[in-house]
Amino acid sequence: MSKIKMNPIVEMDGDEMTRVIWQEIKDELLSPFVELSTEYYDLGLPNRDATADQVTVDAAEAAKRLHVAVKCATITPNAQRVEEYKLHEMWKSPNATIRAALDGTVFRAPIMTDRIKPVVNTWEKPITIARHAYGDVYKATEYRVPGPGKAELLFTGDNGESYRQTVYDYECPGVLQSMFNKDSSIEAFARSCFEYALSVRQDLWFSTKDTISKQYDQTFKFIFQRIFDAEYAEKFKAAGIEYFYTLIDDAVARVIRSKGGFIWACKNYDGDVMSDMVSTAFGSLAMMTSVLVSPDGNFEYEAAHGTVTRHYYRYLKGEQTSTNPVATIFAWSGALNKRGELDGNRQLSDFAKNLEKSVLDTINSGTMTGDLALLCPDPDVKKVTTVEFIKAVRKNLES
Ligand code: NAP
Ligand code: MG
Repeated sequence: MSKIKMNPIVEMDGDEMTRVIWQEIKDELLSPFVELSTEYYDLGLPNRDATADQVTVDAAEAAKRLHVAVKCATITPNAQRVEEYKLHEMWKSPNATIRAALDGTVFRAPIMTDRIKPVVNTWEKPITIARHAYGDVYKATEYRVPGPGKAELLFTGDNGESYRQTVYDYECPGVLQSMFNKDSSIEAFARSCFEYALSVRQDLWFSTKDTISKQYDQTFKFIFQRIFDAEYAEKFKAAGIEYFYTLIDDAVARVIRSKGGFIWACKNYDGDVMSDMVSTAFGSLAMMTSVLVSPDGNFEYEAAHGTVTRHYYRYLKGEQTSTNPVATIFAWSGALNKRGELDGNRQLSDFAKNLEKSVLDTINSGTMTGDLALLCPDPDVKKVTTVEFIKAVRKNLES
């Protein structure tokens, strides 16, 4: 059988358990079938340290050039990691660097199987979280207030005009934080959401706390509405879908009572928290896909979970772990499918869809990793190691 040919995508390798799984997926599920063409960037922490994090910047630039990227989970260093890896610096989160470069929106959707029932028993279809991936608390300026004094918000315009407001007159020590966002980024967020909703023909919900945050959050609400009215109202009508804004607390209540099958757009922090809540309620963080979509049409696919450190330490001791590789496999299939779509390469897109089907068939037949077996009470369920799971998927893929 001749292998499927493809144009290059950006490959960003990562850390720990997911780096091990990354290689296994390539060897067992991709290379035997596809003449894999990737521009390889090693975002593993040792190489980020050796290149003073230049490799992350280069990888993000490459994603803009080739339009499709696939990324392995990476360590975001903290003080303990600086010690563990003897780092020169506490490098920034690679995801934050890439998101800032692509100015995108992250769409996270659960991978549903027949075997695993969502905790919320009304949910029949996936709920996709669209997370704004720019600014807010992730780029905030913070200060530990040492004692009594006055905190002020000061803006100085390029035209010399300034705006000043008292934040608080401290009578004791405390904390202080300032956040920002930009209209251009919020507009890009809105357009990414409307485009994505049209592409998957699902309703779009958007929620903020605009009743309390009358400038910050209300700006998000107004920008979404303005762009919807001007550019998307007709298209949504034609597609038979709706755009719907509501307060975030109301949204939470409605989401829990819903049947699913829609996109829920959230500001950066809300999206971080709500995507973990939604994925856990659908079953497992290891069953969540994640794609960063930039407004100018670049796509970066990854798993929503981290490097699964606890499993990695067991792996280093020689243990065969039962780490779930599904989200990482779907990152690859997502990227290959998109490459195929953009290039009109049917064979490649079909392969990606078959790969996903083989994964679901494997789980539905009762073969699954430990995290899923725990959620599945059926007596015929077989808990397998990562390597056994990947081999079972390969068998399905071949047949
Ligand atoms: P994590 O890697 O997502 O793992 C947390 C726990 O969730 C695991 O210990 C495991 O639970 C379970 N889990 C996650 N993925 C799993 C999988 N594929 N299969 C089976 N179980 C899975 O989060 P973390 O331990 O907080 O973070 C580890 C490192 O990942 C950190 O250095 C962090 O910076 C990084 N991180 C990276 C990304 C990213 O690159 N996108 C995202 C988040 C975190 P049990 O141990 O109970 O089995
Ligand atoms: Mg998170």
